[in-house]
Amino acid sequence: MKMRESILQKIIISILYPRRCPICGKIVVPRGELACPPCRLKLIPIEEPRCKKCSKPVDSEEIEYCLDCFTKHHEYKKGFALWVYDANMKKSITDFKFHGRREYSDFYVDELVKRFHIEIQKIAPDVLVPIPIHKSKQAQRGYNQAEILANGIGEMLNIPVISNLLKRDRKTLPQKQLNDKERLKNLLKAFSFSKEALLQYEEKYNRKVRKVLLVDDIYTTGSTIEACTGILLQNDIEEVYFISICIGKGY
Ligand SMILES: [Zn+2]
Ligand SMILES: [Zn+2]
Repeated sequence: MKMRESILQKIIISILYPRRCPICGKIVVPRGELACPPCRLKLIPIEEPRCKKCSKPVDSEEIEYCLDCFTKHHEYKKGFALWVYDANMKKSITDFKFHGRREYSDFYVDELVKRFHIEIQKIAPDVLVPIPIHKSKQAQRGYNQAEILANGIGEMLNIPVISNLLKRDRKTLPQKQLNDKERLKNLLKAFSFSKEALLQYEEKYNRKVRKVLLVDDIYTTGSTIEACTGILLQNDIEEVYFISICIGKGY
């Protein structure tokens, strides 16, 4: 694991550019931290018992899979997430995505790597692939939040990132009125795979891409991850995993 900045560098940067707390939105106290220590306690970490597939928290140790994973087959192998998607997380992620708070990614990446670096190293993904957003959205926001996360994780764990392996071609129809099958069908049409990006990578690193770790900010119904997994598998990727900052609650 690479250290990103020394403690001294962190202090100097924090004096020049006071950092905002991803949870309360105010200047972080004490300086040099990525979030105020009392604010961190407000987040709900995902601990055991959790679903063995998607990692949503479940009610008891006897429950192996959440209701969603029990009733639906997911093509991805396994997923990891840090916190429950509650009101605090919702505000934090909304500011990160829509209100220009890109710097919040430092906190998210730091926590994701601290918590999951052993699991990620065990999986040994060949590459990280961020869930793409439509180019009009990217133009509006100025960045794809999932790509920022993937780059941060990749840098710390020394795993290459292919940001253009998947592309979001069109905006999807509102998903709420659709059932699961229609949802997936609708989403599959929204993404495409770049063989060119894959070949470029394979030539550069002189190795095949077999395992992909998808990176996104939130996992709710899992339909986006599932659609991206489907496309990767159709294109001869053998195993797909995902990692996200937060996840909806399972039962
Ligand atoms: Zn705070
Ligand atoms: Zn699950």
